[in-house]
Amino acid sequence: MYAFAFHRPTSLRQAASLVGKLEDAKFIAGGHTLLPTMKQRLAGPANLIDLNAIPELAGIERSARAVTIGALTRHAEVAESKDVREAIPALAELAQMIGDPAVRHRGTLGGSVANNDPAADYPAACLGLAATIVTNKRKIAADDFFKGLFETALEEGEIVTRVSFPIPQRAGYMKFRNPASRYALVGVFVAKRAGEVRVAVTGAGANGVFRWKEAEERLKARFAAKSLVGLSHSPEGLNSDIHADAQYRAHLIGVMARRAVEAASNRE
Ligand SMILES: Cc1cc2nc3c(=O)[nH]c(=O)nc-3n(C[C@H](O)[C@H](O)[C@H](O)COP(=O)(O)OP(=O)(O)OC[C@H]3O[C@@H](n4cnc5c(N)ncnc54)[C@H](O)[C@@H]3O)c2cc1C
Repeated sequence: MYAFAFHRPTSLRQAASLVGKLEDAKFIAGGHTLLPTMKQRLAGPANLIDLNAIPELAGIERSARAVTIGALTRHAEVAESKDVREAIPALAELAQMIGDPAVRHRGTLGGSVANNDPAADYPAACLGLAATIVTNKRKIAADDFFKGLFETALEEGEIVTRVSFPIPQRAGYMKFRNPASRYALVGVFVAKRAGEVRVAVTGAGANGVFRWKEAEERLKARFAAKSLVGLSHSPEGLNSDIHADAQYRAHLIGVMARRAVEAASNRE
């Protein structure tokens, strides 16, 4: 690891001012993505700005229409939150499927969406639930936020403060995990709300998370796993790597989508 200076602001305003002033600065939240890359010397920021002492980034709030989760909230807190489990059980289940206990107790929601790993779980929930990503400058719809591999709509120095997830009528998430890393080989988040069904796929797309429109149309006509029988995703444009080829990932999208709909349909 290269040497760096460490900064620990205690307010959002301080953090924003530091990132504006310092040369080659990076935010750190859970550090579960950034630190491994620094250890391997793939990243070597001169300044690290730790977001962990900023109270405005903490907490989970539930209203009649949405669950809003602070960017610094750990995956384990989301998985265990009574509000999340009652309002959007699929989101709590998704958080519980992330990595292992160490990852879940350090990794944060804000870090995950800002990083936009093509195999991460939260981007699928954000897109599937039509979430809004709130920053220190603006509100960004999930549809406009995830731009490509590790690319988001965030500008230099912009801080994700929270994510607001509208409460759906039904939702389900299923992932086929890589047994070594536990990242998604393919993960599918399905959500139904008034007048709309969304199907968001992670782990498979060469450009990261995407919506599967054909499945959405079928499920809009009838929200049942049976509606997806006979529908398959094309392998074109999907990832092929040592873990799985595009054909296999295409097959998994169909299987995970049907299971996610079943999970959503079977809820009380
Ligand atoms: C062994 C292992 C297994 C994992 N398995 C999974 C898995 O199954 N599914 C999954 O989804 N993820 C998995 N992860 C990733 C994990 O969820 C990370 O915690 C997450 O991707 C990044 O969150 P973080 O808080 O650790 O971010 P950090 O590593 O601290 O930061 C990541 C990036 O986001 C930026 N950033 C952080 N917070 C903010 C913010 N609030 N605003 C703006 N920029 C910010 C940082 O500058 C950095 O560029 C795994 C990680 C490991 C090490």
